[in-house]
Amino acid sequence: MPNKRCGGLQKVEIATLLDKFIVCIAPVAQLDRAWDYGSQGCRFDSCRARHFNFYREKSMNHLYFLEEALKEAEKAFLFGEVPIGAIIVKDNEIISRAFNRKEFLQDPTAHAEILAIREAALKLNSWRLNDCVLYSTVEPCVMCCGAIIQARIKTVVYGVPDRKFGGVESLYSILEDKRNNHRPEVIRLNFPPAEELLKKFFKILRTSGEVPEPGLTGPTRNRVTP
Ligand SMILES: [Zn+2]
Repeated sequence: MPNKRCGGLQKVEIATLLDKFIVCIAPVAQLDRAWDYGSQGCRFDSCRARHFNFYREKSMNHLYFLEEALKEAEKAFLFGEVPIGAIIVKDNEIISRAFNRKEFLQDPTAHAEILAIREAALKLNSWRLNDCVLYSTVEPCVMCCGAIIQARIKTVVYGVPDRKFGGVESLYSILEDKRNNHRPEVIRLNFPPAEELLKKFFKILRTSGEVPEPGLTGPTRNRVTP
């Protein structure tokens, strides 16, 4: 009987799978250098420099957590799911992490954001996630935006817009709708690695019509739907 919350796989198995996967993101050290280059290339007065450093640190923080969400998306990729990952952070600590499990669970609501919200609520023993930040590699869909509002999540950060299903900016602007009793802060960062992973996934789908089973070996499961 598979354990649904970890997809029936033991941690060791997941770690082994991840070892085989090449992480396609710039090391944080490189990002550090890029930012430093920016600060050294301009002459700020001390006040502006302080502000710059403040926002630089904030952005670096967001990038760090988006990279953690990307690790989840990479797991989804390995399991033949559309590679989307999400994490929830409270007081600068990751309290839940999840990736899209729609195919495996055959559950249309098993989006990464929903699973991460459920896990966080379970951990905090509360459905109110007021002080939490949700990081998703991709723009949350309409359903996930609803869950974000229901959970009272404080801030939503994501890296890639979703032109087909996005509920934050692409199709709708649900999180900004003044009729809602809760409107989270929304931050969209430019995060190419998440987009690259999606492109890679759909390229495989287009060329082979199939996505490998977990572990990239054995018979295939998901087929392209027209
Ligand atoms: Zn969703």
